Amino acid sequence: MVRKTIRSIPQERAFMPVQEPEERARNFDEVALGFDLENAMLECERCLMCPQPACIEGCPVNIDVPGFIAKMLDKDYRGAYDHLTNSTLLPAVCGRVCPQEDQCEGVCAVGSGTGLEPVAIGRLERFLGDMAIREGWTKETHIEPNRFRVAIVGSGPAGMACAADLAKAGCKVTIYEAFHVPGGVLRYGIPEFRLPNDVVDAEISNLKALGVDIQCNTLVGRLFTIEQMLDEMGYDAVFLGVGAGTPHFMDIPGENLNGVLSANELLTRCNLMHADNFPNFDTPLGLGKRIAVIGSGNTAMDAMRVSLRLGAEEVNCIYRRSEVECPARKEELHHAQEEGINFHWLTNPVEILGDEKSNVRGIRCIRMELGEADSSGRRRPQPIEGSEFDFEADTVVYAIGTSPNPILGQTSSIGLNKWGYIDTNENLATSLAGVYAGGDIVTGAATVIKAMGAGRKAADSIRKYLGIRDSDVVYEPEKPGFENSLFGIDLAEHCFTRIRQI
Ligand code: FAD
Ligand code: SF4
Repeated sequence: MVRKTIRSIPQERAFMPVQEPEERARNFDEVALGFDLENAMLECERCLMCPQPACIEGCPVNIDVPGFIAKMLDKDYRGAYDHLTNSTLLPAVCGRVCPQEDQCEGVCAVGSGTGLEPVAIGRLERFLGDMAIREGWTKETHIEPNRFRVAIVGSGPAGMACAADLAKAGCKVTIYEAFHVPGGVLRYGIPEFRLPNDVVDAEISNLKALGVDIQCNTLVGRLFTIEQMLDEMGYDAVFLGVGAGTPHFMDIPGENLNGVLSANELLTRCNLMHADNFPNFDTPLGLGKRIAVIGSGNTAMDAMRVSLRLGAEEVNCIYRRSEVECPARKEELHHAQEEGINFHWLTNPVEILGDEKSNVRGIRCIRMELGEADSSGRRRPQPIEGSEFDFEADTVVYAIGTSPNPILGQTSSIGLNKWGYIDTNENLATSLAGVYAGGDIVTGAATVIKAMGAGRKAADSIRKYLGIRDSDVVYEPEKPGFENSLFGIDLAEHCFTRIRQI
């Protein structure tokens, strides 16, 4: 094979179409439209096939990037897909939402000190994932069943990745999910225009094809406890991948007014309760015309862009630091700016203003300036005295971070750290024998692929744990079932209400 050099490869990234900003700001269709075959192949040409590829190390699940690209260059697309899915269950999802610029693409040789953009690894991964969905490919996996039963709590990326590996290892795996549909944040958080639900569903069907049983509307900690799963329901091990979806507020006056909500509530009501499809679905959001979103991370970007698509005339982002410190992915910030969101950097809310009917009518803010760097290395924002001013707003949305839902800690003896996250050792074992945890509930808010990496690592630990117990486990195939309803209450709604109360 002729060795490629930086000079011999196509210098520009291959073309990928996106919807125009004015058009896309008013619809929920996907923004980025993906490579066609010709452009995917052009992009493959840009890979140098490095003998020691940094991209593999840069990926939290160590995808063999040059390996799958080499198969694409041989026009063996099915082989490329099989190779890719040795490491990831969700290529069409991760190809769309992973922050590749900080991972595989961030260390790609093509983009390192050359002035060129790195190989568009994420877009190639998406291309193969989409091709598999279109062609109906499923991965042939030979499974040798064993006698172990494992329960997974939470069907987000951590739970799904753990379930897939354990099912492939022959365990009988059941996922318990509080909401009425599986997928975690992929389903209730990330909006349709970045990650279509059809794509999530298609990749979840691969999990079901491995024999994984998914029980929705099941809030663990209310219907049964972790200890009951081990002692009464006959599970040999449990994995907790419950995420960290409890929203933070600022504790400023006016937070109890009508029209104040968290970004997770807004996104959930759009994604799961179809607020975008009123009156076909009887669950409108009633945001009004002027929306103020506090925070500027990826969740804030999603909340703002969804608000625009739900018909808001003016969307204002309020962030206490400057654009340089904005934590959102650069691409998301750029897309939001193109779509017409107003960004108010170095601005902090001090009070939410209400009218005589206790509805939000505005938000009082203060200007900030950056002082000395704090322990995170970022310059600390400080208020400028006397600089308060008011915005008009019909809705105020908080997107300033989340913390864990306390339910598992309240209903079991599992060890938590001082912030309420589940404590684990380096193998992701918790304080309870046979119980492992991973994803956002251990690390705090992170990324899809990091959660999947944790799920895979926990699956490996569970396999070893079950191997040790191999001789003394008694397998009981049938255990009494638990009803998937809580005295007739819709559990997703119950969970959702609970989160609002905390
Ligand atoms: P989750 O995805 O939160 O899944 C946890 C699941 O557990 C949920 O379905 C929940 O209903 C269920 N659950 C909770 N408690 C119980 C219980 N007691 N019983 C049963 N089920 C329970 N990351 C990226 O990489 N790229 C992005 O573009 C991106 N965008 C994001 C946008 C938003 C709006 C948000 C909120 C996050 C985003 N993230 C993104 C972060 C990423 O989605 C998370 O880091 C990842 O989903 C964490 O996975 P997880 O499996 O740990 O938890
Ligand atoms: Fe190809 Fe970049 Fe990985 Fe090298 S680092 S193998 S150029 S994708």
